[in-house]
Amino acid sequence: MVTEEVHDIVIIGGGISGLALSLGLYRKGIKSLVLERSKVLRSEGAAIGVYGNGWQALDQLKVGADLRNCSVPLTGMHYEYLSKDDKNVKIYRGEMRCLRRKDLVETLARYMPAEQIRFGCQVISLDFDHRANLHVLTTQDGATIKAKVLVGCEGLHSMVAKKLQLSPPNYFPIWITRGFTMYPEGHHFENHFLRVDTEKAVYGRIPIDDKNVHFFVTFFDAPAGDMSDPEVVREYTVELLKGSPSEIVESVRMCDMETLSMRQSAYRSPWALYHQNLRRGTMTVAGDAMHIMGPFTGQGGAAALEDAIVLTRCLSKVINAPAKASSDEKWTERVGEALDLYVKERRPRLLRLTFQSYLIGTLISTESWLVKLVLIFLLNVLFGGNNFNHAMFDCGTI
Ligand SMILES: Cc1cc2nc3c(=O)[nH]c(=O)nc-3n(C[C@H](O)[C@H](O)[C@H](O)COP(=O)(O)OP(=O)(O)OC[C@H]3O[C@@H](n4cnc5c(N)ncnc54)[C@H](O)[C@@H]3O)c2cc1C
Repeated sequence: MVTEEVHDIVIIGGGISGLALSLGLYRKGIKSLVLERSKVLRSEGAAIGVYGNGWQALDQLKVGADLRNCSVPLTGMHYEYLSKDDKNVKIYRGEMRCLRRKDLVETLARYMPAEQIRFGCQVISLDFDHRANLHVLTTQDGATIKAKVLVGCEGLHSMVAKKLQLSPPNYFPIWITRGFTMYPEGHHFENHFLRVDTEKAVYGRIPIDDKNVHFFVTFFDAPAGDMSDPEVVREYTVELLKGSPSEIVESVRMCDMETLSMRQSAYRSPWALYHQNLRRGTMTVAGDAMHIMGPFTGQGGAAALEDAIVLTRCLSKVINAPAKASSDEKWTERVGEALDLYVKERRPRLLRLTFQSYLIGTLISTESWLVKLVLIFLLNVLFGGNNFNHAMFDCGTI
C-alpha cells in the first residue's frame, strides 16, 4: 500500500539557500523537509567569498563561530595588471573571508536533525491539488510528497521558478573556471583577495586558511569541446593562463579536481525581478532560483543567506502563532501574506544587487566603448563605483 506523505514545508534543493532556510526554521522550532537530488552534500563551486552581510546572516543561524574557525580574515582586494605592470589596492574594513562550500553546507546541515534532509531525492514534477490545497511533488523514484508550503531553492534551473512563470535565466558571454588548491606545506600568500588581469583571462585568488586557496579564472571566448571532464577543464584553463607568473599557473595545475568546475555566467534579468510574481499561493523561491546573478560583486551566496533569514522571520510569525492557525483555510491565507511580506522586503534589495551585477557583467563583456562609458557612468552614479557597498546590508534577525 502506498502511504501518503504530507509535510507543512517542503524545500527543494539542499544548497546554501535551502539548508540555511531549513536551519533558520528549525531554530524557530519549525519543521521542514529538504529534498536534495545529490546523494551527498555538493561541494561543486569550491568556495565563496563572504562579506559582512553574509556573516551577519550566518550569526543569526548560530553557525558564524564554527565557520570563522575554517577561514582566515581578509584585508581587501589587490588588483594587478600584467600588461601594464600596474597595481591597485582597495582596503575593506568590514569582515571578509572565503569559505569552502563544503564547510558551509556541512556546518548548516550539522545543526539540523538528519531526517530533515533527504538525499538522492530529485523532484521531477510539480502539481497542485486544489481540493486539498496541497502541492504535489513527484520524485525520480516515483514517490509522491505533498506540501502545504513549497519553497524552490533548486538554483539555476528551478522548477518552482518555472511554475511561477519567471522568465528563464540569461547568459553573459563570460565563462568561469573555479576550484581550490591545497598546499600541504602551507602557502605563502598574503591574506587578501588577489585579482590579476592576464592576457586572455582574469585570475582571482583568495586564501581560505593557511593551506588552502580558492581560485577562479574568467574568460570571454566560449570553450570548444566538452568541458564536463575536469581534466579537460584544467588543461584548457592552464592554457588560457600561459605566460602568467608560475604561481598562478601552478595553483590551477595543482587544484583539487573534485572541486573544479567551468560554467557560463548566468543571470536573471533585474527587470524580471521587478515586475514578475515571486510567489503564488503558498509557493515561492529563494537563492539562485529567484535571483541568479553574475559573480562580479561576490554576493550571490550571501544574498541566498539573507533570503533565508527574511523568509524564516516572515514564516515564523505565522506558523508560530497557534491562535492564528485556527482553520486550515486561514492558515493558508496567512502563509500567503507572510510570503508577500518576504517578497516585498527582498525585492528592492535584490533589484540593486542584480542591477549592479548586470551592469558590471555587460561592462566587461561589451566591445563598444560608448556602451562602456555609459555603464561606468551608471555604476558611479547609482553605486558610487563601489563593489563593497552591499556588504554593509543588515537583513535583520530570524
Ligand atoms: C563563478 C562564481 C563565483 C561565485 N562567487 C561567489 C562569492 O564569492 N560570494 C558569494 O556570495 N556568491 C558567489 N557565487 C554565487 C553562489 O555560488 C550562489 O549564489 C549560491 O551557491 C546559490 O545557492 P543556492 O542554494 O540558491 O543554489 P545552488 O547552490 O545551485 O543549490 C541548488 C541545490 O538544489 C539541488 N537541486 C536542483 N534541482 C533539484 C531537483 N529537481 N530536486 C532536488 N534537488 C535539486 C542541487 O543539487 C543543489 O544542491 C558565485 C557563483 C559563481 C558561478
